[in-house]
Formats: sequence, structure tokens, C-alpha cells
Amino acid sequence: MSWLYKFLLDVIEKKDFCTQCHCTTCGATEFRATLISKLKIYSKIPNITKLSKTNEKKRFIAPMYLDLEKELQRKIVNEISDELRKLTDDQISRLEELKRDFPVLRCLFVEFENSSDYLYSLLVGTPAGIYLKGMIEHHKNEY
Ligand SMILES: [Zn+2]
Repeated sequence: MSWLYKFLLDVIEKKDFCTQCHCTTCGATEFRATLISKLKIYSKIPNITKLSKTNEKKRFIAPMYLDLEKELQRKIVNEISDELRKLTDDQISRLEELKRDFPVLRCLFVEFENSSDYLYSLLVGTPAGIYLKGMIEHHKNEY
């Protein structure tokens, strides 16, 4: 089982991470920064101790994917895609079922929307790829 699935499931079950992609209150900042902190590449980000920030709940609120250099963004998308490719149909259904209002997977894909086409090219033929394709085709206007 991929660590990503475990993380997303954990986020859903704890119910205290905001996963509303464009939340006007918090911008889903804790979720987005914590996701980056889980990556293997996280410790290799230059000046990562300076870039990382936590809030009063000791949750990550930085770094943000979009603040990082393009080359790093590319590496992050590559690592995320390796995990997304492991997701099964059942796992995706479970993630959807548990967080109907603001699906966690949708929030994740919105985070990487500047690389949607590239990410999709890495996911073609997988359940996560089908999910992303649906978002690209039907929700373009919501980006
Ligand atoms: Zn929020």
C-alpha cells in the first residue's frame, strides 16, 4: 500500500485537515504543506529548514509547492505520480466516499494543476489517471 493512500485516509479519518482546495479561510494550507513534508524529496529541498514553517498546532504550513522552483516542482510531481499510480479503484472510491464535500484527491490534483497535463501523461491507464482526466475535462472552469 502506498504511503500516499495511508496519508490521505488519515487526513480524512481525522477530519481536522481542511481539504477545500480554494478555501478562503486557510487555503487548505496545512494539508498542502504536510503533503510536501511527506515526500522523500522534502529533505533534499535547498534551505528546507528555513522554508518549513509550522503553526500553533505544530502542523506544517510551509513549504508550498507553488513557491518552489520549477525543477523541484517537476521532481515533486514525479514522486507523487509514482504513488498515485499505485492507487486502486477501491482505494479511490473509499477516499471519495469518506470526504464527499471536499474530496481529498481532488484537492491534491488542484494543488498540481500547473502540471496537470504532465501529471496526466504519467498516470494514463491507471485509476488515478481516469480520475484526473475527469477533472481536467469537466472542471476546467472551476480551476
Ligand atoms: Zn480551510
